[in-house]
Amino acid sequence: MPPAHPFDFDYARDDDCGDTLHEECGVFGVVGVTDAANFVALGLHALQHRGQEAGGIVCHHPDHGFNSARRFGYVRDNFTKQSLMETLPGPLAIGHVRYSTAGSKGQTAIRDVQPFFGEFSMGGAAIAHNGNITNADALRKELIERGSIFQSSSDSECIIHLMARSLQRTIPERMEDALRRVEGAFSVVAMTRTKLIGVRDPLGVRPLVLGKIGDGYALSSETCALDIIGAEFVREIEPGEMIVITDKGEIESTQPFRPRPSRFCIFEHVYFSRPDSIIGGRSVYETRRQIGVELARETPVEADLVCPVPDSGTPAAIGYSQESGIPYAMGIIRNQYMGRTFIEPTEQIRNMGVRLKLNVNRALIRDKRVILVDDSVVRGTTSRKIKEMILDAGAKEVHFRIASPPTAWPCFYGVDTPQREKLLAATMSEEEMREHLGVDSLKFISLDGLYRAVGEAEGRKADCPQYCDACFSGEYPVEPADMIEKGFVMKAAE
Ligand code: SF4
Repeated sequence: MPPAHPFDFDYARDDDCGDTLHEECGVFGVVGVTDAANFVALGLHALQHRGQEAGGIVCHHPDHGFNSARRFGYVRDNFTKQSLMETLPGPLAIGHVRYSTAGSKGQTAIRDVQPFFGEFSMGGAAIAHNGNITNADALRKELIERGSIFQSSSDSECIIHLMARSLQRTIPERMEDALRRVEGAFSVVAMTRTKLIGVRDPLGVRPLVLGKIGDGYALSSETCALDIIGAEFVREIEPGEMIVITDKGEIESTQPFRPRPSRFCIFEHVYFSRPDSIIGGRSVYETRRQIGVELARETPVEADLVCPVPDSGTPAAIGYSQESGIPYAMGIIRNQYMGRTFIEPTEQIRNMGVRLKLNVNRALIRDKRVILVDDSVVRGTTSRKIKEMILDAGAKEVHFRIASPPTAWPCFYGVDTPQREKLLAATMSEEEMREHLGVDSLKFISLDGLYRAVGEAEGRKADCPQYCDACFSGEYPVEPADMIEKGFVMKAAE
């Protein structure tokens, strides 16, 4: 059956059979510029890799009040239209790009598209949330029992309802109140009529940065989105920090939560963030190259070529090549225009799967022993197909080198991962995975090697890990209460 709607069939998701981890959201906000929504649209465009399903913008103008637009699909296909952008006036705006986690996964309803808006006695407020609330089911149940009427299936809407129930006087105070009830990961960008607000959860799992543009300020999931609007990077919002920026450019920073050691998502370094972003003062590209260096030291193999699985494996492959001395080559070429291209696909086109996105550079590969560097192995379906393509092209040997440790546990903090039993590393040893993929060798970077690559010279501190690495270690920094309630079994303490 062809899809009824052009966006019903998502090739980006379908062609890898759920074999890629997806960051769920990107958030962006600007205050103190003319036509802030245009800046937000640009920022969201730069954050599109964090969510392609839908996007939304809310803005405020002193004369026209709050306005909003929510659309399915890419930012560039919607928020570039003059007729739409003219409806979003004002010097203050926030936006969100979404790839659903909680809520109606894969079949987002427009009501699930953020930012969410609430009207309070002291004025309106809109919020955009990146992350995942691990006690959302319990909160939603409690709120509904007490009379809240939810508009969406998104866990993020709980924050608006908790704010509505708060007895605090101001919106930032109500937001503090609400977020103290929330467990899990959140980077929130919010706005009132006159203020732009940014908050990170106490562990700082998801990123949020502050930038300066003219007399105004911007908040963004990543620095690459500050670059696109010409904003200067000021600093990261600290874990557990709330920052309130007025339309006069005054900034107030508070720490409303009980302080805890930070646990930033280590996978942001490996895969989610754009390579041109800066995290913790380090270039993501350089960190990924360093992961390749560590990988080459830990898992050497004799071969003729080092090839990345594009695009996310590229910097690690460069690092592997530099460290090993084995030549780097673009053995697989990615079709940059792949996306939701075919509106009514035939069954034959659907079955082409990964070939729609990637093609082997045959002339280069023939008769070579090839090291393929990829960012992760999730279900292994894509890796198997890539291996087949490489062997079809005449490669003599295929060696997989993976720039992250085996992904054996699901993420509950805002990344779309299959159920645990669907993760290859949850059910197989490394040797079993190698056999399953049918490659000559398969090696992953160690957890310590990954920590060294992100700048922790001594590796991972077992008693107090410096990052969230739950998808590799099974050690969850925040207990996923809703999932445990649904039967998820945590790793037994060692
Ligand atoms: S579980 Fe993995 S993907 Fe999720 S926040 Fe932790 S490190 Fe990141």
